[in-house]
Amino acid sequence: MDGGNQPNIAPVLILLGPPGAGKGTQARMLEEKFGLVQLSTGDLLRAAVAAGTEAGLQAKEVMEAGGLVSDEIVLAILSDRLEEPDCANGVVLDGFPRTTGQAEALDKLLFTKGQAVNAAISLEVDDVKMVFRVTGRFTCGACGEGYHETFKPPKVEGICDVCGAQDMKRRADDNAKTVMSRLDAYHAQTAPLLAYYAERGALKKVDAMGDIGAIAGALSKIAERLTA
Ligand code: ADP
Ligand code: ADP
Ligand code: ZN
Repeated sequence: MDGGNQPNIAPVLILLGPPGAGKGTQARMLEEKFGLVQLSTGDLLRAAVAAGTEAGLQAKEVMEAGGLVSDEIVLAILSDRLEEPDCANGVVLDGFPRTTGQAEALDKLLFTKGQAVNAAISLEVDDVKMVFRVTGRFTCGACGEGYHETFKPPKVEGICDVCGAQDMKRRADDNAKTVMSRLDAYHAQTAPLLAYYAERGALKKVDAMGDIGAIAGALSKIAERLTA
C-alpha cells in the first residue's frame, strides 16, 4: 500500500518534523510547484495572536514558552481554514497535526469530505543542528519568504529576493531556550504520529539534513505521484 493513491480526490500531504526541519520552506515549494495550498497552523496562530482574537490571547503565552496550543483551539482554526474554497485543489499541512488527538480529528474531518491523508512525510533531521537553523531564521514580512543567516541569506542584505520589501522579521519564539522546549514537545507529543501514519500506510521518511534543493527534489517525487 502506498498511502492510498486515490484519483479524483484532492491530495492531502502532511509535513512532520521538529522545529527547523524545513516544513515551511518545503511547503512553500510544494505550493508553488504543485498548486497545493500551504496550511501552517503556526502562521494561523500567529495571525490570531496579532489580531488579538480570543484564541490568539490564549495561544500567545503557550507559544512563547514553546509548548503546544490546545487541540481545541488549533482544530477550530484549522477546520475553518479547510472550508475555504482554495483548499479543494489539495493541501500541504505544515505543523499540523502535532498530537494524536489532532491526527484523529483530521481523519474524521477528511472522512466526511470523502478524503484521507495521502502521505505523511517525516523530515528526518538531527535535533542538535535544529537550534542553529531556528535561531538563524528570519522571514520577509511582506511576502512570507523564509531566509537563514547562513544557509539562505537574501542576495542583498535586508532586501527580500522575491518581492523587494525591506521588512525582515524574526519570531519571538525563535530563541535557543524556547527551541529546546519545542524540541521536547515534538518528541513527547508529535513523534508518536510517525507510528500512527505508518500503521495507515501513509508514512514516508525523507532525509532532511541535505541542501534545500535536494530535499525539494525528494519531496517533489512524492507529490508528483499524488497529483498525477
Ligand atoms: P520549520 O517550518 O520546519 O520550522 P523552516 O522551513 O522555517 O522550518 O526552516 C528553518 C530555517 O532553516 C529557515 O531559516 C530556513 O531557511 C532554513 N532551512 C530550511 N531547510 C534547510 C536545509 N535543508 N538546510 C539548511 N537550512 C535550511
Ligand atoms: P516550528 O515548526 O518552527 O516550531 P510553527 O510555526 O509550526 O513552528 O509553530 C510555532 C508554535 O505554534 C508552536 O511551538 C506551538 O506553540 C504552536 N503550534 C503550531 N501548530 C500547532 C499545532 N498543530 N498544535 C499545537 N500548537 C501548535
Ligand atoms: Zn518578500
